[in-house]
Amino acid sequence: MPESGALESPLRIRVNAAPMAASRGNVMKIDRRCFLSLAMGAGAGIALSPLPWKLTDDVSIWSQNWPWTPVPKRGEAKTVHSVCTLCPGGCGISVRKIDDRAVKIEGMKSHPVNQGGICALGLSGLQLLYGPTRVKGPLKRVGDRGKGQWMPISWDQAIREVTEKLAGIRKAGRPQSVAWFSGASSNTLNQLLDRFSQAYGTPNGMRLPTLEDAYSLTLSLMNGGRARIGFDFEHAGYVLSLGAGLLDGWGSPVRMFKANSQWKTAGVKVVQVEPRLSRTAAKADTWISVNPGTEAALALAMAHVILKESLYKADFVESYTEGLMEGFRNIVLADFSPEAVAKVTGVDAATITMLAREFAKAKRPIAVCGRGQGTLPGSLDLFVATHALNALVGNLNQPGGVWMVREELPSWPDVQLDSAAKTGLGYPRLDGIQTPARISLPNRFIQAVAAGKDYPVEALLIVESNPLYTLNDTALVRQALSKIPFIVSFSSFMDDTAAWSDLILPNPIYLERSDDVVGVSGYPYPTIALSQPVVKPQCNTRPVGDVLLQIAKGLGDSVATALAWKDFNACLEASLGERFKSLKKSVVWVDKAYKPAAWDEVFATERFSFIPKGIAADAALKPVSVPGDAGGFPLTLMAYDTMRLSNGYIGNPPFLTKILEDTVLKQTDGLVEINPKTAKSLGFDEGDRAQIETPKGKALVKVHLDDGIVPGVVAMPRGLGHEAYDAYLAGKGINVNNLMASVNDPISGFEAAWGIRAKLSKA
Ligand code: SF4
Repeated sequence: MPESGALESPLRIRVNAAPMAASRGNVMKIDRRCFLSLAMGAGAGIALSPLPWKLTDDVSIWSQNWPWTPVPKRGEAKTVHSVCTLCPGGCGISVRKIDDRAVKIEGMKSHPVNQGGICALGLSGLQLLYGPTRVKGPLKRVGDRGKGQWMPISWDQAIREVTEKLAGIRKAGRPQSVAWFSGASSNTLNQLLDRFSQAYGTPNGMRLPTLEDAYSLTLSLMNGGRARIGFDFEHAGYVLSLGAGLLDGWGSPVRMFKANSQWKTAGVKVVQVEPRLSRTAAKADTWISVNPGTEAALALAMAHVILKESLYKADFVESYTEGLMEGFRNIVLADFSPEAVAKVTGVDAATITMLAREFAKAKRPIAVCGRGQGTLPGSLDLFVATHALNALVGNLNQPGGVWMVREELPSWPDVQLDSAAKTGLGYPRLDGIQTPARISLPNRFIQAVAAGKDYPVEALLIVESNPLYTLNDTALVRQALSKIPFIVSFSSFMDDTAAWSDLILPNPIYLERSDDVVGVSGYPYPTIALSQPVVKPQCNTRPVGDVLLQIAKGLGDSVATALAWKDFNACLEASLGERFKSLKKSVVWVDKAYKPAAWDEVFATERFSFIPKGIAADAALKPVSVPGDAGGFPLTLMAYDTMRLSNGYIGNPPFLTKILEDTVLKQTDGLVEINPKTAKSLGFDEGDRAQIETPKGKALVKVHLDDGIVPGVVAMPRGLGHEAYDAYLAGKGINVNNLMASVNDPISGFEAAWGIRAKLSKA
């Protein structure tokens, strides 16, 4: 079994029993202020509905000086229903309007996922709509890249310039050298981008993967078949979270807050395993403080106990699975005893044994993973170990269990490829994935472009994603983008990547356009929802789907034929069929009668495999270690997620920044969390200025002492340190991704970095 970094003793905290951390041989007290702040923050929850009125009141007073704050006039009041697409949560929203001005966003009461709830980000949507960070119309760069010098141009010119560039590259026989990046959702727009790529002849479409992709891959390798993962949390009897930030923005955040309330009422035990006292850990019944990166080892030690004591569900394991005796059991029994794993995880053997027995004997136990919000997919060993636990207790496709959810992706007729398209598609993908690909590896794409591997990228189209901000190792991403001579952003906002592009063709935001939302992250029922315009576009924008169709028309040949819809609405109609009309009224369709396939059906021809099919057992269960030398960098830096910081394509709206704790951001200083013992050993006190350095970079920070983090580990939030956007966000704190390295999972190739070695010195 691999050794982890030398970190200090195990901590096990029962937050609801007593605010203290029991460690091996000594007792560490959590500072009362720290505990109260966590408990209150978690109790108030940022995703409650309605958000506490005091907060709303404070924020509205604070924001009265903003010239762009909506000031409703007298007029006709009405409510329009739609879907929020600011995260994969898929919440229904009800937007209150006075005449044609949207004045308030609330959760849609009849929506089955959020049932009237809304999170602070969803509530802040009007700031995105009316705020100063919008790109007001098409822009062309006139100065050096990233210097912020732009010239407004007409839509005709913008579309003509992109079309001419793409036509020239294609005519020269190099369509493979055009690539695109898009956001994560599986929907018609992404289908359209795929179709455009195919017809044009490029294999380099990159969709930024998330935990959903890691789970889908795990399902296909262990269960067999294609499906989305769903968790029937509402009927679970026990929840073991291996690092998933269930109350920190994981899956569908508002749904998770509601599920948590249900768990409290029903007495469902929640155990959170992670190195830091996150809000999820603070609200759990038990927090198991584990050394970072060892969550999978803990799961495998639990499997060891379950197998050794024959606590597994025999009828499922014996009749429907394979690979248990052959590989999984041997490895787990030989290498993952609780005693051996205790040395790695810092969790004592008795606790591991107790946890395994409790999990196996509970009714309807669910194990779940996906670090933090799961915006990065993570290492496959953690998904395999977690899913193996669910299989051992037979809680697959059962009520209160982990479900394989039918996919509802639209299907269109095949594209007729012309010779240019065939030539381009004959080239390998730059991320190394075999085509046709269901996943993409932007981390490997960036590495290949930066290294000048295979062939150059001549043009990059960026849709609803901000790779220069969200991907690990910002310097490498910038190096790769610098090699691409023509970058087109379709962003609605002046985000970090848009600011680094050559042309911006702004998309309307979600409150101004139509889009479908297929599936909800982690939700166990098939769903399709329609996000639709609730107000007229506030800027000179055009939906990216419409623009893409116009570019296709201009390119002619098989591209025009394959994308012959008159506009994106027609495309949506082709995808959704009859449902399109009904969704305009109902907003969402949910197959609540859905039942996942019975074991006899799903494992009839292909049994569940404890070891991913086609992969050696020791390789599948091998953890990913952090980059960096422990001698030169004695600490481990981890990035964490919080509901108060939007950290993806959408930058934090001012409301959210306002409610950030001053232990995270103080004026423009970002703070790094550190255990008081570690801080003392390094000579730091609360509020001290420090330089944090990793093998990838350095930054100036302030120190925040916090008992709720394992000694030897420091943590910084994702979502700060933007270089672009607006005065309310740019230059505040540090983008932790600047300090992180990119680590490819050895099996899946997914971005798997969960931390990096670091050191802290006096500034
Ligand atoms: S949880 Fe996500 S989808 Fe729901 S309101 Fe918040 S941002 Fe929107």
